[in-house]
Amino acid sequence: MSQIANLDQIYLDANATTPVLPQAAQAAMDAMQNLFGNPSSSHITGLKAKNLMEQTRQRAKALLGAENGKLIFTSGATEGIQTGIWSGLIKAKSQLKEGKKYCILYGATEHKAVPNSLAHWNEILGINAEIKAIPVNQFGDLDLEFIKNEVDNALMICTMAVNNETGVYQDLKKLEHCIRDNNPDVYWLVDCVQALGKRSLNLAKTSIDYAPFSGHKLYAPKGIGFIYIRETAPFTPFIAGGGQEGGLRSGTENLPGLAALNVIFGMLLNKDNSSFCSVEVLEHYRQQLTKSLTQAFPSIVFNHSYKNSVPTTLNFAVPGFSSKEIMDLFDAANIRVSSGSACSSKVTRSFVLDAMGLPAWQSESAIRLSFGPAMTQIEVDIACQRILSAANALSNSCLMLDDSKIDQDRAPLDGLVQLRSGSSCTWIYADKESKQALVIDPLPELEKRIDTLLQCQQLTPVAILDTHGHADHVSGRVALAQKYLSSQKTNELGWPTNATELQIGNEKFNALTLGKLTLVKVATPGHTDDSMSLLLTSDTNNLTTSTRYAFCGDTILMGSLGRTNFSSSSAIGMYHSLKQINRLIGQQTLLCASHDYNNEFTTSLSAERIRNPLLQAVLSDTIDESQFLEKKTDLDSSLQDEVGTEILCGAYSGECDKAKIKEYTSESLRQRLAVSPNVNIIDIREAYEYALQHTLDTTSEHSGTDSGLNRGVNIPMTRLVQFIQEHQADKESEWVLVCRSGSRSMVAAQAMHRLGFVNVAHLKGGYALSS
Ligand code: PLP
Repeated sequence: MSQIANLDQIYLDANATTPVLPQAAQAAMDAMQNLFGNPSSSHITGLKAKNLMEQTRQRAKALLGAENGKLIFTSGATEGIQTGIWSGLIKAKSQLKEGKKYCILYGATEHKAVPNSLAHWNEILGINAEIKAIPVNQFGDLDLEFIKNEVDNALMICTMAVNNETGVYQDLKKLEHCIRDNNPDVYWLVDCVQALGKRSLNLAKTSIDYAPFSGHKLYAPKGIGFIYIRETAPFTPFIAGGGQEGGLRSGTENLPGLAALNVIFGMLLNKDNSSFCSVEVLEHYRQQLTKSLTQAFPSIVFNHSYKNSVPTTLNFAVPGFSSKEIMDLFDAANIRVSSGSACSSKVTRSFVLDAMGLPAWQSESAIRLSFGPAMTQIEVDIACQRILSAANALSNSCLMLDDSKIDQDRAPLDGLVQLRSGSSCTWIYADKESKQALVIDPLPELEKRIDTLLQCQQLTPVAILDTHGHADHVSGRVALAQKYLSSQKTNELGWPTNATELQIGNEKFNALTLGKLTLVKVATPGHTDDSMSLLLTSDTNNLTTSTRYAFCGDTILMGSLGRTNFSSSSAIGMYHSLKQINRLIGQQTLLCASHDYNNEFTTSLSAERIRNPLLQAVLSDTIDESQFLEKKTDLDSSLQDEVGTEILCGAYSGECDKAKIKEYTSESLRQRLAVSPNVNIIDIREAYEYALQHTLDTTSEHSGTDSGLNRGVNIPMTRLVQFIQEHQADKESEWVLVCRSGSRSMVAAQAMHRLGFVNVAHLKGGYALSS
């Protein structure tokens, strides 16, 4: 069996694309250098090229059982899909009967190339049939009853042999019966992209009219594909021109691609001389990976049944972890997987899993791990080891609880952690010496994560608090308080009734002790009548200079103020609360809000005064409370429709524009580092990613990432606010933030820049492009 893998990275995203098999790459290279003729030329060079092309076609036909059907080479499956759909619909259009209502059917879990092409050609050809998605059940099987009821009026039906996200295959025999019993003439396209090399197909023995395929899903290069067209199916060339492919698809043929396909087909036909594993071996690999995944993540849920899916695709979710987190984790462990399909990797949920009716969290956290038939035992073994190391890194950084390691000596958490879910924030403060903690504004969806962190770090919460009664979400406070502080008597926001009273200046405040720090409660009504701000300070006699963080809930948000149009709101109350906060804390004290709509992490009064004219007017005494009421009412009214959400950044137009940050390429950064030893590299990936990258023995030796870029300290995004707090006096230093892809570092650098870190830069493209 040939070894195509680079074992530094274990590539488990074959359903997106595959590497080119070395033998196929060699054949493509030969075709470029030696067999480079134009198959249309009549000289010997051209004849040789044509011979290769026809041999490849014969191999494809033999492999697919195409018999008298046509086999045309295309640029890939998307072109094949257009060709089939366009051919079928053009013919169907010529047969439309007056007054009859027609539909076009496609499977709800189809690759987007299919419904999007159907909609496009339905409109362009002026057919305007109703396009209907065929539902699937929880296992991904098409609803045959639906097809039975609808197909009689269908001009075309498009289904898929194997799904790209779940590997679920359809029972094509049963499907065919259902279609043909109810409409013998409807044009039927089956997207066979993910079936090639994984399911046997005997196309001419079926009534499938069009079957598109793609080379790059099975170890051929991108840019080559093919389509089978049934002997009796209508056909209209999709690309006209020089008459290549017998006039069926013009354009000079992609001979290097064809040469590569030729090799792949040869291997599929001649199993003895193949790099491909048998189904049994692939099934064994799936079992082995499943075992490791389950051992690593005991609560893992698989999103499809193994009974009706090909062994090369595993789709799963880990409760409590988003797909982005698992992807980042696996990427750091040098295992490449994907969330959903590569074409829609910006989308945070899977329409395929939604169509299967799986719970929302499974769809939002779905991870697809897929491999091809050229997978090797060594790759599976390494993948399994790395999956276990990845899980280990998660438990070491207290994101997953491993009971056997609770007592393990690990670096104690010291200071502030910002957790987030969407744009909402939860804050945890841990005091290293006393092992005490504060939990502020706990979100219910983060309950498990907070609980895990507290247990793993063996922290005792002194209070679990909400800064106000949240109108837009329920609090996770009660559940956590019941677990950790069941005997503590508190008010409805979790503030202990036996908190000590403190005299500061002329005023009395309630306060809690956390190690050497004090948490001072300040009533700041406005957003709601119960809103409070919590000042964490090291010296109660000197709040302005010693308050490290002000947890101010929704009173002051980044770029705006909390809305004051709830029934328990009071704009006038807010006016006085803002002044009160201004009196008590310093202009640079970090404000930790319960929302962060714009990825800014934290803010300060001085930063907000610059961009929030209303706040500035209040704090500089240029408006009175009635003028504030008028302006605030006006602002709030523009947000009337978003009942239950706070004022979004944007209420003050244009003020949320992000700063332009200096960007380094890996080359320019290396040059900078070589001449300036004072540049500080900050790796802002999460601790588990950082740990994995630095423990993988492959990293420094093979990845080419030179020590310059790897020398940075690790300040994860969850700890960035503490970093900002600790470096308030050092805003001139040169910091370069680095992450995996450059997107987190950019956001964090912008946030730091806004707070006055004038020499902050980031590495464009992150570590991904630096090796
Ligand atoms: N159909 C399916 C099921 C696929 O997985 C893909 C690729 O993602 C396509 C169609 C599109 O194929 P191509 O990239 O060759 O255009």
